[in-house]
Amino acid sequence: MTENNVLHQSMTQEPASDGKPAQLITLINPNGMTVTLMDIGATWLSCLVPVGRELREVLLGVSTMAQFNQQQAYLGATVGRYANRINQGKFSFNGESYQVATNQFENCLHGGPNGFNRRRWKVETQDEQQVAFSLTSEDGDQGFPGTLLVTVSYTLTNDNAVEIKYYVKTDKACPVNLTNHGYFNLQGDLCGENCLAHRLTIAADYFLPTDDKGIPKGELRAVANTGFDFREGKNIDADFLQDEEQQLASGYDHSFLLARTCKDAENIAARAISPDGLLAMEVLTTKPAMQLYTGNFLAGCPNREGGEYQNYAGFALETQYLPDSPNHPEWPQESCILMPETEYDHSTVYRFSSAISF
Ligand code: BGC
Repeated sequence: MTENNVLHQSMTQEPASDGKPAQLITLINPNGMTVTLMDIGATWLSCLVPVGRELREVLLGVSTMAQFNQQQAYLGATVGRYANRINQGKFSFNGESYQVATNQFENCLHGGPNGFNRRRWKVETQDEQQVAFSLTSEDGDQGFPGTLLVTVSYTLTNDNAVEIKYYVKTDKACPVNLTNHGYFNLQGDLCGENCLAHRLTIAADYFLPTDDKGIPKGELRAVANTGFDFREGKNIDADFLQDEEQQLASGYDHSFLLARTCKDAENIAARAISPDGLLAMEVLTTKPAMQLYTGNFLAGCPNREGGEYQNYAGFALETQYLPDSPNHPEWPQESCILMPETEYDHSTVYRFSSAISF
């Protein structure tokens, strides 16, 4: 049995929280790369990338529904309505104040206690290299205004890229910020080494300092002369925990304002290279910012083999608006408020290749 069949079987052995088994979809391209998605949370469960003659699992994940329900790390899930934090779950615009559900300290994290990561999405279309999921989020869901119609699609391209497209319409103005919460270890998710020896490049001149609860302090700070300067590429551990910002978060758990050129399809937002130098991953996105999270609290999170991941087992590169944007209209990015007459139309590409050419 292939690894994917095993995963399909083990994930569906027990029902999801709505009493029915999850639906899993595996995409495969002519190079043999395979990507498995699940309708619960529109979750990216597995990513097997060819490295030489082997297939390498580069995504942290679980293999049973019980483990999926147990983990609180948002492994591979689609996160919404509002990825990252909203200070005290409060915001106002157009003269109206809103209080949304809170779930981490007194703040709203990743859309609230019943975020999109917990929902069963509908499989709209699927073929060998593409699947599209849809979700209707009712007016008042987690306290957010407006009915949202959401589509998230995953395409596995012939050049070993996973393209995630997000499309949302609303009938009332509402902050919308969707992301995928995949954690990567390009050496292999169960390789036994943490992710800190990856070489990482991030095309960002500014990052967002936060307080000890992950809430932005307000200022965007230049990365120059800080541990947040990944512009030339460096190992994640090169300046790890060296500055107070990281010490507050037990590692990197910060948003970077991407250079404006990243919105052009050909300019990368980030590049990571595995410690063995055999695999590279590039991130391209239409979104203005990206959170680097080095898995600072992953200890205890179930892994695919029935064991547990350790802290720093993988890193997430979550493309999004800057956190708490509803309370910071002054920041230099497009507004995070989706209006009925506009559309949320974004994409992020994770492209894998042999690292030799870098
Ligand atoms: C947040 C972390 C959080 C993690 C899992 C990340 O996006 O920034 O602070 O621990 O998600 O919830």
